[in-house]
Amino acid sequence: APYRVVDVHELLDSTLLMLSGKIGPRIEVVKDYDRSVPRVPAYPGELNQVWTNLIDNAVSAIGDAGGEGTLTVRTALEPDRLLVEFRDTGPGVPEDVRGRIFDPFFTTKPVGQGTGLGLDISWRIVVNKHHGSLEVRSVPGDTRFQVRLPLTAAEP
Ligand code: ADP
Ligand code: MG
Repeated sequence: APYRVVDVHELLDSTLLMLSGKIGPRIEVVKDYDRSVPRVPAYPGELNQVWTNLIDNAVSAIGDAGGEGTLTVRTALEPDRLLVEFRDTGPGVPEDVRGRIFDPFFTTKPVGQGTGLGLDISWRIVVNKHHGSLEVRSVPGDTRFQVRLPLTAAEP
């Protein structure tokens, strides 16, 4: 998909709709959108892939915690960035693996269940391609993956 001006809330809604079967009825989805967030220049297909990877991870983390929990998707307007945050109530990212989760092929999932590529690909899309940032904050019961995107064109 080409670089264009996108409405992140539309992208988030379409990804959430596409994943609704996978998310299932036991996970409550909370949309905490800041409607003052402007449209931003981006590659929409690639951002949808980032949302998909982060939601997929959140759903499996909640699965590890028994399958019931809450996924909160929050947006906020910061001074010169747009924040998109995926928060889950799963067990969290253990301290000893925190530094490796963005590495290609790093996974803690059983063989055949995780490729270990989701966060690597997301990093490349957000940081390398959109000049944004991707950070994690995690304690048991409250894990947040935060994507920040520039508000103005990152392309030459
Ligand atoms: P995969 O999902 O195939 O394992 P990812 O690159 O998407 O690969 O994630 C790498 C690892 O990061 C996961 O195996 C898991 O250990 C950790 N991780 C990612 N998201 C979460 C989350 N929301 N909660 C807890 N751990 C997570
Ligand atoms: Mg993953």
